[in-house]
Amino acid sequence: MNKNDSELMSLSLEKHGFRASGSPLDADIAVYNTCSVREHAENRVISRIRSHRKRMRDRGGIIVIAGCMAQRIGEQLIAAGTADMVIGPYQSPDIGSLVSRYLAGRERHSFLSQEQGDFSDRINPDLVRSVEGPEWHRWVTITHGCENYCSYCIVPFVRGKLISFPSGRILDYIRLLAANGAREITLLGQNVNQYGTDTGDIPFYRLLESSARVPGIERINFITSHPKDFIEEILHVIRDHSNISRSIHLPLQSGSDRILGLMNRGYTVGDYLRIIEKINALLPDYAVSTDLIVGFPGETEEDFSETLRSVERIRFDDAFTYAYSPREGTPAFSLPETLTRDEKISRLERLIALQREISRGRLRERIDRVEDTIIEGFSKKSDDRVRGRTYLNHNVVVRGSGDDIGKKIRIRIDGVIGATLRGTRIA
Ligand code: SF4
Repeated sequence: MNKNDSELMSLSLEKHGFRASGSPLDADIAVYNTCSVREHAENRVISRIRSHRKRMRDRGGIIVIAGCMAQRIGEQLIAAGTADMVIGPYQSPDIGSLVSRYLAGRERHSFLSQEQGDFSDRINPDLVRSVEGPEWHRWVTITHGCENYCSYCIVPFVRGKLISFPSGRILDYIRLLAANGAREITLLGQNVNQYGTDTGDIPFYRLLESSARVPGIERINFITSHPKDFIEEILHVIRDHSNISRSIHLPLQSGSDRILGLMNRGYTVGDYLRIIEKINALLPDYAVSTDLIVGFPGETEEDFSETLRSVERIRFDDAFTYAYSPREGTPAFSLPETLTRDEKISRLERLIALQREISRGRLRERIDRVEDTIIEGFSKKSDDRVRGRTYLNHNVVVRGSGDDIGKKIRIRIDGVIGATLRGTRIA
């Protein structure tokens, strides 16, 4: 989502006459679009900004901090002299006019309103022709904000309430993208399954279906799904449209019902397993990836063992695993931590080792299968090989050239090297 926001910010700055500099160190205005989900990321970016700031100060350059960290601690960043301007997620797509106004008068430096009237839209047809990234793949933000209040998560506080963009405008935008060469899109939202529940617009599965019908779109991905809102109709739409990715990202977070309750996730492990059974029954081929947090306050060895058991049972293709880190301002921040950092890391390492073994096994199961793949670029190791992703979101390397980039090709999987499939082109 931040990548899409950054594209919108670049567009806005260009519209107001700013030009991208060759390097951040040469820039007169440095813009940091920040994430606030983890403390570690915030600390890293703050130290980076501080060293950048020292170099800029002599030249009279300015530092703008945008995004979720700006929303969370923007006034502190200004008071500490870390930033000249802070712009929250509501207004960041309008950054060009805000920076222009700041430069003209140098008076207002903080734009952190979360009033409806200050919200800048994410569907901007001008973006169709102006991004620097690959033309064949484009991000499409369908919702902004989240009201699920998972107890560990800062997002509802920094991004605000759920705002679904009108389906008609989203679909017009996707048609425009397709007409301008996009072949793959990724629908984005903190919880895409809640699309339309705030506005009474069509439900997510209908939006997915209509997106899949846009001529020229060869693959649609969507992130992120929330298990509590993942209804069977979504699977029917995936089953009936071959251009929807078969890779479903479904964050489980914990294998313990007690911890899921403390996390305010709104489902049990049993509910989650029922979704996996439905996926299994309805889709002949699929991949499931997940997010898992270990060391949530109060997590016992038995709770953690339940997470390991769930991972063994479900056999995720991939898992993004994290040691819990408290975020000030979230409900879980007040819960007493019951594990040391070392204990959390030790659990995390056990989980990663298990998942790595399962991921390897899942990849090996692909050998001899024929898979459609969209080629994304050259292989890092060789100029006569290209890399892409299958419809199950597995990385694959195959012999090819620059002409293949952005195209769909059919390959037979021959083997696995590390976390990557190796294939032979058959069409
Ligand atoms: S669904 Fe939960 S974890 Fe995801 S953004 Fe919303 S509050 Fe955060």
